[in-house]
Amino acid sequence: MPPLVVGNWKMHGTQQMALSLARKVKRAARELRGVEIGVAPPFTALPALARVLKDSPVALVAQNVHWQAAGAFTGEISALMLTELGCRYAIVGHSERRHIFKETDEHVARRFSACLTDALRPILCVGETWPERRRGATERVLERQLDSALKGIGKTAIGKFDIAYEPVWAIGTGHNATPEQVSAVHGWIVKSFRRFLGDRGHKRASRILYGGSVRPDNCASLAAVDDVDGFLVGGASLDAESFVAIARAFC
Ligand code: PEP
Repeated sequence: MPPLVVGNWKMHGTQQMALSLARKVKRAARELRGVEIGVAPPFTALPALARVLKDSPVALVAQNVHWQAAGAFTGEISALMLTELGCRYAIVGHSERRHIFKETDEHVARRFSACLTDALRPILCVGETWPERRRGATERVLERQLDSALKGIGKTAIGKFDIAYEPVWAIGTGHNATPEQVSAVHGWIVKSFRRFLGDRGHKRASRILYGGSVRPDNCASLAAVDDVDGFLVGGASLDAESFVAIARAFC
């Protein structure tokens, strides 16, 4: 599987801005070899971007997904609705969902499982806060978050999801985790969750992305870390040139 670089646009982008950014990314993507790229616009821009990105290698990514197929869940969107629009991936458990919107590990696990049954590849976000890192609890927190989502999945789900390690203290702060910190955590995830990640020699079935203040000036050193199989990019993905420069770190 090629490395994956996804731009999370969060709650940014009028239709006009989303279309213009998507067109620029689509054009630049033609020259990128050996890396898969995706964009996660606000839900409102998904239909327009589905048209623009049709027949392009740029994947359409949803920023979240609900666990039910349909029903009285005001404000939510199902996996089926997203695949119908052409989404290939959905982000689940982003730290903003966990911390601002109080999504629990159980909510995240249900969203994660719903994707697996509806052929939407989830990108499961995990990460510790700064106080958790300071008291040496990083692995304990990640183990809880990963266990909760992965424990219920059967063998058939192996190879159908990706993981993003996103330390909460690095998201949107300008302070990325160092390559050494990223290496330690990604290595630990690979070792601890090998049975879920489907380790087959060097080729894993799930990619482990890093996210947290990735920029054009730090992406090369982070991409060079063993076990970093891509990036989840927030702020820098709102500028097509920066986003493509970041993706190029894997080419
Ligand atoms: C994110 O929101 O997933 C993220 C990584 O944001 P930023 O790149 O802005 O830190």
